[in-house]
Amino acid sequence: ELLANQIAAGEVIERPASVVKELVENAIDAHATQVDVVIENSGLDLIKVIDNGEGITSDEVPLAFVRHATSKIQDRHDLFKILTLGFRGEALPSIAAVADVTLQTRTATADTGFFYQIKGGQVTQEGPAAGRFGTSVSVRSLFYNTPARLKYLKKPQTEMSLIVETANHLAMAYPNLALSLTHNGKTLLKTSGNGDLRQVLAVVYDRKTAEKMVGFEGASEHFRVNGYLSLPEQTRSSRSYFAVLVNHRFVKNFSVSNAITAGYGSKLMVGRFPIGAINIELDPLLVDVNVHPQKAEIRLSEEGELTDLITAVIRDRLSQENL
Ligand code: ADP
Ligand code: MG
Repeated sequence: ELLANQIAAGEVIERPASVVKELVENAIDAHATQVDVVIENSGLDLIKVIDNGEGITSDEVPLAFVRHATSKIQDRHDLFKILTLGFRGEALPSIAAVADVTLQTRTATADTGFFYQIKGGQVTQEGPAAGRFGTSVSVRSLFYNTPARLKYLKKPQTEMSLIVETANHLAMAYPNLALSLTHNGKTLLKTSGNGDLRQVLAVVYDRKTAEKMVGFEGASEHFRVNGYLSLPEQTRSSRSYFAVLVNHRFVKNFSVSNAITAGYGSKLMVGRFPIGAINIELDPLLVDVNVHPQKAEIRLSEEGELTDLITAVIRDRLSQENL
């Protein structure tokens, strides 16, 4: 079982940023409105995610660390319309197989909280504990027992920038979430959770850039899109400054990226890309999130309808600006 979990960890938990993503997504699935991510030494010493979500009842905590035991999918039909971010039941057991994990949790109806410590898949300590409502998960000594993984990591600054990128994507996908990220005591990201995407963009990029962006929205038979985009005078040399969010998941999709730049047409200089974020909402039945465990790449049905919509909405919005 430990070996199977270590193998699964190779798929799901590639690096410190994957731990951050999985833990924050769990908090979001637990309906947290505030999530604080505390990092020490680029995640190599500590990754701690504190949420104010539903918590886990003490008898269900051990189950949360059993592979494929997810509380989110009740039967196989649910697999085709996934509404939660997690559904594989792999993250916690994978992390616990390759690190030292401490989980503290308390539900709204529990008299007391619960504490659970597991290292290399072995429970080392558990019992009642005081604590506030919600869940906090601390991950220490990541990859201590998988030296190959540890060696494969990039230099600490690079791993940290990937954590920041992950937090930025989550903040943009969830403007209603008050999300903070600190590294060695320094705050790197802090959103208010007031639901305003432009304010999140101001935090992620900078206030001036965000203020100059224009909002857009549109819909077709199967899709609704909205977001903010920069005017052609504000561009970057990489397409990674335009976040694509599908049903609140950050995704990489080349067709969508191309549809965005197509909307700018010849107004973009060659090799330049706009800044912004687009939310794409569609019936979960039309998304296949099963393509890859990391879920960054997805497959969409009716992709042509979507790309036509995006290009038209952006083109129209820019022409309103007399561009
Ligand atoms: P998945 O998210 O795919 O269900 P995970 O391994 O990430 O699998 O989590 C296992 C289970 O642990 C979840 O299904 C959920 O019931 C519980 N859980 C994990 N993190 C939290 C959290 N922060 N708050 C409440 N429940 C949680
Ligand atoms: Mg999960």
